[in-house]
Amino acid sequence: LDDVHVAFSPQGLFRRRTAPVRAVRGVSLGVGEAESVGLVGESGCGKSTLGRVAVRLLSPTSGTVSFQGQAIQALPERRMRPLRPGLQMVFQDPYSSLDPSMTVGDSVAEPLRVHERLSGAERRARGREMLHLVGLEERHLDRYPHEFSGGQRQRVALARALILNPQVVVCDEATSAVDVSTQNQILALLRELRHDRGMGFLFISHNLAAVRHVAQRVAVMYLGKVVETGPTARVFAAPAHPYTHMLLTSAPGASRRGAGGATPVGEPPSPVNPPAGCPFQTRCPMVMERCRVEMPAPTPVDGGGEVACHLQTDGPHLAGRPLPETLRAGV
Ligand code: SF4
Ligand code: MG
Repeated sequence: LDDVHVAFSPQGLFRRRTAPVRAVRGVSLGVGEAESVGLVGESGCGKSTLGRVAVRLLSPTSGTVSFQGQAIQALPERRMRPLRPGLQMVFQDPYSSLDPSMTVGDSVAEPLRVHERLSGAERRARGREMLHLVGLEERHLDRYPHEFSGGQRQRVALARALILNPQVVVCDEATSAVDVSTQNQILALLRELRHDRGMGFLFISHNLAAVRHVAQRVAVMYLGKVVETGPTARVFAAPAHPYTHMLLTSAPGASRRGAGGATPVGEPPSPVNPPAGCPFQTRCPMVMERCRVEMPAPTPVDGGGEVACHLQTDGPHLAGRPLPETLRAGV
């Protein structure tokens, strides 16, 4: 993804012209072979929209989306079709993405019918293999989605995405609705697929513990922009952006010293009319004069990655240093 922008024009009542929602504002992000990238941020920050753009379920307003060296953002469907198997997406609510009138076996094998010439028996065999891979038993093949628990449906949706052996899988909150042990099993499976088949993952989640577990690299999104990127270990140990710090300290169980468990302070501004300057200025405990007027540029951070915050160039750096008292008090 290179400098991707997405703006929606919601149809207002009586077809009034409404201002576009600027959901994604100039994001560049890549997923390499056998790489797992975590994308975090509060709901509404644009991460799901970005995920849809990455697999071309949605075309960006501007910017480039490349897959295997090819720009796909404007490819006609006819030329996109042969590339589709390589790009898959798994959603949070698998109940809505599974056809309730189809058996799970048929659902899982359906992508094969669309994209590969295989006999019914071969499709069934592959479907069985996939269900087995995600930890479901063969007797489940002839059942319907409503007979399954949420965790089982999530596995089915995953099997359906994996059956075409994609190169990149975007998981949008794919483990957020399942219990912890199912979640751990799915995360372990993703890691295996990454190692064994070289699959790349874009793992979108507000669950920081899961991201920490599964991602090698993390990107933090706020109000349509990536505000920080870096190796997972560095970002979690020494967040460089005040927003990343807020997310980490407000996550459940984030702090053993009793300061955790709080929800993030305040609300992000509306994406219809994002403020000039730093997107985080309305909530940032460290806000300075220049943050109101000047958009901070991505700047390298010690330990890897980049941060878009004026503190990095102008003021006390956060990365790898004790946090200033003001910031500690603020979050
Ligand atoms: Fe806070 Fe300014 Fe950094 Fe934005 S640029 S995060 S407002 S210090
Ligand atoms: Mg979302």
